[in-house]
Amino acid sequence: MNWAEKDLEYIWHPCSQMKDYEELKPIVIDHGEGVYLYDTEGNRYVDVISSWWCNLLGHCNTHISEALKKQTEQLEHVIFANFTHKQAIRLCERLSKILPEGLCKFNFTDNGSSAIEAAMKVSFQYHEQTGNPQKTRFMALTEAYHGETIGALSVGDCDLYTKLYKPILMDVIKIEAPDCYRCPYGKCRENCNCECAEKAVQAFTQYGNETCALLVEPLLQGSAGMKIYPPLYLKRLRQLCDQYNVHLIADEIATGYGRTGKMFAFEHAGVSPDIMCLSKGLTGGYMPMALFVTTQKIYDAFYDDYSTGKAFMHSHTYSGNPLACSCANAVLDLMEDGKILQRAQENAIYFNNIIKEKFLSHPNVGEIRSIGLINAIELVKNKDTKEPLDSSLRTGYQIYKKALKKGVILRPLSDIIYFNPPLIFERKDMDFVTDIALECLNEILPN
Ligand SMILES: *Cc1c(COP(=O)(O)O)cnc(C)c1O
Repeated sequence: MNWAEKDLEYIWHPCSQMKDYEELKPIVIDHGEGVYLYDTEGNRYVDVISSWWCNLLGHCNTHISEALKKQTEQLEHVIFANFTHKQAIRLCERLSKILPEGLCKFNFTDNGSSAIEAAMKVSFQYHEQTGNPQKTRFMALTEAYHGETIGALSVGDCDLYTKLYKPILMDVIKIEAPDCYRCPYGKCRENCNCECAEKAVQAFTQYGNETCALLVEPLLQGSAGMKIYPPLYLKRLRQLCDQYNVHLIADEIATGYGRTGKMFAFEHAGVSPDIMCLSKGLTGGYMPMALFVTTQKIYDAFYDDYSTGKAFMHSHTYSGNPLACSCANAVLDLMEDGKILQRAQENAIYFNNIIKEKFLSHPNVGEIRSIGLINAIELVKNKDTKEPLDSSLRTGYQIYKKALKKGVILRPLSDIIYFNPPLIFERKDMDFVTDIALECLNEILPN
């Protein structure tokens, strides 16, 4: 049986020009183990992108798998209105102890985009029910990514995903995001005072009174090309949100669960958002699940007699799914003592050092940026002017294809090669994937 041919007969893959598959057939994965995936022909791939950033502790982790198996024998699903179960209750109790201060009321969805949408609806409804019906708009950063359903796409700003759909999207106020590599103020991450926050000040001055919430990917704009900005910027946003009675919605879908070196990226800033969305690492990459968590204050604005119509009438069939919750609890079992995170942080220093050693001298490497185990290498045409490569050459894609043949899944964001491995990534794997990435870079852009 030729599985790849069969696949193309039936399957329309996400985020793909299907014609590209004529040249690069879908890779049929047979099984996974730790940071490795194996295809049906026995080839091994290092999953250095954590299978779309969600695999946290390796594939087929024994503890999570056992927890899931056990749960399948007890309860697979139950309606989550009026009914509940121990896995969800335990999960929320445990999370509330480690989340930034004040976040204590949980609402479940089944994917990241819908957690964003639910958070937006809750924020709008809060203001409607607390005497500010004029607050009907949202703010977000340029180049943001918050998911791909219509509402989530509206607060996003990556042309690749949004541009075509503009006619059917909401009118969102966009704040020019920090751009530390090409800082318009001539500063760098280490010596700035977040001068760029003045763009946010302008937006709040003009639109603060009609805005219900600002959405932000804390410290790391992933899909924008792993753009990293300093924690001080979040503090500034927190101040503005307080001043104008605007909710700060933290999209920690990609940054949560230790990806930035702390359990949640907001911890770096020492402030709390009003609403936080979690998904990718939540179940360790096992089951589709997401949630938003918010404050007692927001929760209380919905708490009243049924007849007042103040309830949050939002649901998803699989809200609070027990199988997913059992995985999420198993992830916390493994992470709660902080040892995995600590080891990841130690290894992160090693990883970043070898990447700098190997790549920095290449004439097309513009910037190497890192946070936690995430490292990104921005390729440019000209190092001095920081002029990007001609995007029509699809340089990143050429490198991706070469690396696949050598057993490494890189999947660059246009011309930005990045590594976002599971937290259990070890030094021997770091040596291997950086060697391969450099080899492929040199083949496509000779040194
Ligand atoms: C992946 C992602 C989303 C969307 O989550 P889905 O489960 O793919 O809908 C939203 N925000 C960020 C920052 C993400 O990385």
